[in-house]
Amino acid sequence: MSRIRPLDPLLISQIAAGEVIERPASALKELVENALDAGATDIAVTLEDGGMRRIRVEDDGQGIHADDIALALQAHATSKLTSLEQLGCIHSLGFRGEALASMAAIARVTLTARTEEAPHATTVTATGGVLEAPMPAARTVGCSVIVEDLFSQTPARRKFLKSVATEFGHCDELLRRLALAHPHTAFRLTHQGRLLRDWPVVTLEARVRAVLGEEFLQQALAVEEGSPLVSLHGWIRHPTANQGRENQYFFVNGRFVRDRLLTQAVRQAYQDVLHGQSQAGVVLFLTVDPERVDVNVHPAKTEVRFQESSAIFRFVMQSLHKTLSRTHPAAHLNDSVEGHASMAELERPEIPVGTRQTALFLEEPDRFHAALFGHSTSPEITTAALQHPVEVNSVHPGSPQPEAVVSVAPPLGYALAQLHGVYILAQNRQGLIVVDMHAAHERILYERLKIAHDQGLVMQPYLTPPVLTVDSREMAVIEQHGAVLLSLGLELAVRGPHQVALRSWPVLLSGVDPLPVVRQVLRDMDDYGHSGRLEQARNELLATMACHSAVRAQRYLSLMEMNALLRDMESLERADQCNHGRPTWRQIPLAELDQWFLRGR
Ligand code: ADP
Ligand code: MG
Repeated sequence: MSRIRPLDPLLISQIAAGEVIERPASALKELVENALDAGATDIAVTLEDGGMRRIRVEDDGQGIHADDIALALQAHATSKLTSLEQLGCIHSLGFRGEALASMAAIARVTLTARTEEAPHATTVTATGGVLEAPMPAARTVGCSVIVEDLFSQTPARRKFLKSVATEFGHCDELLRRLALAHPHTAFRLTHQGRLLRDWPVVTLEARVRAVLGEEFLQQALAVEEGSPLVSLHGWIRHPTANQGRENQYFFVNGRFVRDRLLTQAVRQAYQDVLHGQSQAGVVLFLTVDPERVDVNVHPAKTEVRFQESSAIFRFVMQSLHKTLSRTHPAAHLNDSVEGHASMAELERPEIPVGTRQTALFLEEPDRFHAALFGHSTSPEITTAALQHPVEVNSVHPGSPQPEAVVSVAPPLGYALAQLHGVYILAQNRQGLIVVDMHAAHERILYERLKIAHDQGLVMQPYLTPPVLTVDSREMAVIEQHGAVLLSLGLELAVRGPHQVALRSWPVLLSGVDPLPVVRQVLRDMDDYGHSGRLEQARNELLATMACHSAVRAQRYLSLMEMNALLRDMESLERADQCNHGRPTWRQIPLAELDQWFLRGR
C-alpha cells in the first residue's frame, strides 16, 4: 500500500501551471497583462513557431526592483495584493502571483527588468523551477520576458499543442482582445521574423477600426447606455449587415471575459431581428463597480461573477434592445430630413408644381401623378386607388399650408408602382424608396402577432372549418401540444386518424390561406419539441406564422395597399429588417440618381 507524502514544490507548480497555462496564447496573455499592469504604453510581442518555441514580450512599464526580480518568478509572490479585502475590489489584471512561477516550472523563463531609479537592468533565468543567480544586464526602463520551449518540462501537456498556425492564431486572437481593451497602449506582433500587427496609441473607436476592420464599424450601431451603477458602451453589428467575422468581445471593467449571461443577453436582444443560428458580432465594454463583480472565479481569469446578475442581464439586454429598436425607418429618415431635402427639392424645375399640387401629391399621389402626366403609372392600380382614395393623413384638400404638409410628410413617402411583383417603389423627400414587399409585410405581421399574443389573440371561428390531412407525427404534436396551438390562435379539432379541422384562426390573419401556415407551425413545433425548447419557441412560431401569412412575391398590390404597408412600416419598431435579418427597404437619394445621370444641381 502506498503511503501519503507531501508533493514536491516543483510538482505543485507544474500541476498548478496546467490550470493557468494551457497553450502559448495563455502564457502570452499573462505576460501582456503583466506589462499592462506595470503601466506600459508600448508592448512588443515576438513569437517563434506560434509561441511554442519562443515568446518574448517587451514593455516600457515601471520595471521590477533588482532585489525583487527572483521573487517575481516564485509562486504566490505578487506586488498587486496584500490583503483579503483587496481581493474584493481588484483593479489590476493579475493578482494571484502564480503566472510567472507556473511558466518557470514548465519552461525556460528569462526576466530582464529595470526601474527608473536603477542604474542598470537585472536579469534572471529559471528552467524547470530552478533559478539561476540574478545578473546585471542592459536595457531601458521596463521589462522583457522570454519564455522558451513551453511544456519542455511537461511532455504530457506538450502533446496537446496543435500546429504552428493554430497556436499562432490563438496568440493573435488573444492580442486582439487585449488591444481592444487598451487603445492607449501601442501593440506590435512579430511572428517568424515578420511584423504582422502594428497598432499605435489611438482612440477606442480607431482601435476598434484597426483591430476589427473598417467594415465592422461602418455596419455597426453604437451603444451608449449608462446609469450611475453600471454602464455599457461599444458597437454591435447592424442586423442587416453582411456577416463577416462574427466574434463577440465582452469586456468587464477592461478585462476580456467569456460570460454566458452576456452572450445570452445579446442573443435575446437580437432574437427578433436575426435569423436562427447566426451570432451577432459585438464589442461591448461593461463597467460595474469592482466591488460588485468577482473576478477570482478561475485561474485564467476569463470568467466573472456578478453580484446582481439578473439586474446586469436586464440592463445589457434592454440597452441593446433599445439600440436595435432605433433601426426603424423614421429613425434614420427624420434625422436626415432636416437641412437636406426641402419641399422645394420635390418641385423639380422642369415641372411647374404649385402648392396645391404639392398638397395633392402628399394626399393622393396617384391622382397627383395623373394630374402631372395626364396618365397614371399603371391603369389597374390607379383605377383601384381612385375608387378608394388613399387615407394617408388627415390634411384636408384645400386647407394645407406647405409647412403644415411638410410636417406630416411620411418618412417612407408614397408608393409609385410595384416592380416585378417583388418590390414597391415609393417617392419620399429624399428620393426613391425601394421596399421588399414580402419582407416588410412579414415583419409587420410578426410584430402585430407578438403584441396580439401578449394581449390575448382574438380568434375568429370558421363557419365551415377547413380540414387538413396530417401524418402521425403532426397528429402527435396536435394531441400533445393543443394548448400551445391554442395560444397561437390555432384551434384544431381531431376529425379522424389523419384529419383535423381548423375551428378558429386569428382575426389578425383573416384573408390568409390558413392550411400552409398550420402545417409549417406543426412541423416547427415537432422540431422544437424534440429539442426540448417548445416553451421558449413562442416568438419563432409567431415568426413562422408571419412568414407564411405574408404577401408572396408576384401578388399585385393596389397603390392603396402599398401605401398602407408603408404607413405600417413607419409605425412599427424594428421594421428595418425582416425576421430573417434581411433589410426590408432601402433609400436611393435623389443626389445618387443625379450622379447616375451626371446631372449637376
Ligand atoms: P501577478 O501578476 O498575479 O502578480 P505574476 O506571476 O504574473 O503574478 O507576476 C508576479 C509579479 O512580477 C507581479 O506582481 C509584478 O510585480 C512582477 N511583474 C511581472 N511582470 C512584470 C512586468 N512586465 N513589469 C513589471 N513587473 C512585472
Ligand atoms: Mg500576472
